[in-house]
Amino acid sequence: MPFVQIADVSTATRRRLTPHRRLQVWEKTDGVCVLCECQIDGVRERWIIEHIRALELGGPDDFGNMGPAHEACALDKTRDDHRRTARAKRQKIRHIGADSAKRPLPYGKTSPWKRTLSGRVVPR
Ligand SMILES: [Zn+2]
Repeated sequence: MPFVQIADVSTATRRRLTPHRRLQVWEKTDGVCVLCECQIDGVRERWIIEHIRALELGGPDDFGNMGPAHEACALDKTRDDHRRTARAKRQKIRHIGADSAKRPLPYGKTSPWKRTLSGRVVPR
């Protein structure tokens, strides 16, 4: 996903999954990992329920957004999701003006000095 919409940075609440719900999610793909599309051996391999679109990137916590995934595949995806989320949050912070510029413009509105139209520098 090359672009994360700014409004998408929000976190849905995560509800606990019962074993029956886990079985439902497993049977949705018949035990195929939603990330690498390989069959998961539920006895020998560790697997988790993965939110296909991460909750922190605005994904819903519902059945349609879940699928089984190898734990190793999910770790990679989670790392990438965190990177995207951090970027989207930085963009949102800048977009709504929640943060001031780290390097303000010389003689800008935050500077104690201002430059007049004639070029003189005077205290603001
Ligand atoms: Zn996998």
